[in-house]
Amino acid sequence: MRRRFAPPVFDNPYRVPGCWWKVALHLHTTNSDGHRSPRAAVETYRRLGYDAMAITDHDVLTRLPDHRGRPLLIPALEATGPVAPHIVSLGSREPAPGVRLGAGKLQDAVRAIRRLGGLAVVAHPSWSGLADADLLPLRGHLGIEIYNHVCDDLNGRGASVELWDHLLERGRRVWGLAVDDAHFDRDGLRGGPGHGWVMVKAPRLNVRAILHALELGSFYATRGPRILSVASAPGRLTVETSPADRVHLIAAGCGSGGTRFARENGNRTRWTFEFMKAQWNVTGYARFEVVDGRGRKAWSNPLFVRSGGGRFW
Ligand SMILES: [Zn+2]
Repeated sequence: MRRRFAPPVFDNPYRVPGCWWKVALHLHTTNSDGHRSPRAAVETYRRLGYDAMAITDHDVLTRLPDHRGRPLLIPALEATGPVAPHIVSLGSREPAPGVRLGAGKLQDAVRAIRRLGGLAVVAHPSWSGLADADLLPLRGHLGIEIYNHVCDDLNGRGASVELWDHLLERGRRVWGLAVDDAHFDRDGLRGGPGHGWVMVKAPRLNVRAILHALELGSFYATRGPRILSVASAPGRLTVETSPADRVHLIAAGCGSGGTRFARENGNRTRWTFEFMKAQWNVTGYARFEVVDGRGRKAWSNPLFVRSGGGRFW
């Protein structure tokens, strides 16, 4: 019998109307262990061209009620408990006085954040020493930090990309975020701003629209390179970027454990991957990593395979 290949059809989280907003989703002020006041932190991010930011002080919602204009402030905190690893809450209401969202296990913290209307992000999993076994059973969270700058500064454990792939390969639908986790240390070397952020595609710049886009996965994580568009057709993905040195495709068959890699080189801005031509057995997801001339990366969210992608005989 003749060999047949069904082209993978992708769910594309970038196929939504809107424009791109630069957003910081993890940083600290003097309301917890940061070294800059909330107002000064906002001014820093405004000068760096951010459209929105979430101040994530430990266990407390930092508010600036008289703040107007950019950056838009997203109510947030970082739940920190004696047991649960750190978990960021985005857009939630204030916990009741005395209630610590991170007092229990990781799953309890996610549930508590959801009950308050927030989105839960597992902070710096690699730095926290989390492994596949900790994160595979977790449900109801938005995603994990795949790049955390202060952790990279502190001890080189800022990246959790491998862990992310392990979860995606096993069918977990979790998005990947890059953050500063800025603490504005006095020496100016550790925990600085402007090293990891997300670009969110949303029709409007308001808290609701940004949170909704985050939920849909309509964003990407970056340390510099831009992803301008991701177009998907059966068997083909095309990415437009800022000028880049190379783009990696990371894709996997769900449950196969066989992560496949492809790479396109050249200083250009348009990159196409042909799944039909290559006959890749991609039934799980595909994502991109864009690398610029300075070695800085941007990571797209995964595009999950809706149908096809397998070989049939
Ligand atoms: Zn933090």
